[in-house]
Amino acid sequence: MHGTMGINERGHLEIGGVDTIDLAHLYGTPLYIYDVALIRERARAFKRMFDKHRVRAQVAYASKAFSTIAIVQLMEQEGLSLDVVSGGELYTALAAGFPVERIHFHGNNKSEEELQMAVEAKIGCIVVDNFYELEMLQQLCRTHKYTMPILLRVTPGIEAHTHDYILTGQEDSKFGFDLHNGQADEALQRALASSHIHVLGIHCHIGSQIFDATGFVLATKKLFEKLAIWRDMHHFTAKVVNLGGGFGIRYTKEDDPLAPEQYVEQIIEEVKRNVASFHLPFPEIWIEPGRSLVGDAGTTIYTIGSRKEVPNVRQYVAVDGGMSDNIRPALYEAKYEAVLANRMHDHCEEVVAIAGKCCESGDMLIWDLPLPKAQPGDYLAVFCTGAYGYAMANNYNRIPRPAVVFVEDGEAQLVVKRETYEDLIRLDLPLKTKVKK
Ligand SMILES: *Cc1c(COP(=O)(O)O)cnc(C)c1O
Repeated sequence: MHGTMGINERGHLEIGGVDTIDLAHLYGTPLYIYDVALIRERARAFKRMFDKHRVRAQVAYASKAFSTIAIVQLMEQEGLSLDVVSGGELYTALAAGFPVERIHFHGNNKSEEELQMAVEAKIGCIVVDNFYELEMLQQLCRTHKYTMPILLRVTPGIEAHTHDYILTGQEDSKFGFDLHNGQADEALQRALASSHIHVLGIHCHIGSQIFDATGFVLATKKLFEKLAIWRDMHHFTAKVVNLGGGFGIRYTKEDDPLAPEQYVEQIIEEVKRNVASFHLPFPEIWIEPGRSLVGDAGTTIYTIGSRKEVPNVRQYVAVDGGMSDNIRPALYEAKYEAVLANRMHDHCEEVVAIAGKCCESGDMLIWDLPLPKAQPGDYLAVFCTGAYGYAMANNYNRIPRPAVVFVEDGEAQLVVKRETYEDLIRLDLPLKTKVKK
């Protein structure tokens, strides 16, 4: 239980002052429910620390974690910037009316159409990943007589995951210009030589679900070492240093991430140290949280259905969704916690395995979950499904994707409708030819 969660007088899980069981009745299950106050709190926490240190910054929501019109508009209300990684995410941002100057475009294989869309929309910044893209962007900008601000994405040779980080020197990654083998220097020279490209600075993203600041501190140091060289060699001064996202969240009791403020504070301190030791001007700091803005604000409500006992092994309890609405357990063995949302006061009596309904043995949501004796028709609430849940939802087994509801101050608002069976066949075309005899 976190954010605005509580238990009401009916013994039901409440979020944002709204009974989740009422929402399940109204909108059906599976249903994603987002705690809007918690998203606002996270957004403000990231920004607050920059303000406190009077550091100019942009906090860009990495919209790939959950990209819909409503969430993009919420981030705009909170004064955040926005990262997109595809034409589709850019289209969503533009349709949501997000200020173009605060949109940043990422990706290791942006197509010419996508780049053109970005140039025509005059978005704030393109994070250039490779020479092919740089070349294409130069041509497009020349054609459109537009100067595009860019960051150069580099791989600093640090990979961070949860508790550990790996120093790889020569990083084996599909993303970005290598910082050490001359690629990044070559990219800077080519970009500086182009009259239609304005290099704002440098970018790196070292991983995801990172629990401490060590990786960010190391990456900061590597970027500044390079910036000092670029000043001396190319008279280049970075206006922006972007340290990416990846700030971890607590999915289960075992997870122990820093608070948003703490990541930011350590990053600021490391930037200060480097600015002083290399005598560089203080840049704007940009960060790109995705998961940590929306992850723990999301809860999925399922209806419980069938049960299967494998004697002396386990009890399988099945829900009306699964890898179609949350592929993370199947994809990364991601762990979740859950409760019976309609029986919050009941004591746990058994440990069960929560199975999805897809035709895949690997479609399991949770392997060992203590629960009261769950009956068909009970409601299971799985916590922390707000990031990479709906975003990765799919129609495997032709299961329609769930609806999404925002709750805040006792009010609920539908922000994504549930898919219908008609939606599922919307793009299908009937067979044209007759069977040959
Ligand atoms: C995925 C990604 C992010 C966000 O990662 P989270 O783990 O969701 O915070 C930020 N920046 C870039 C470049 C990314 O690819």
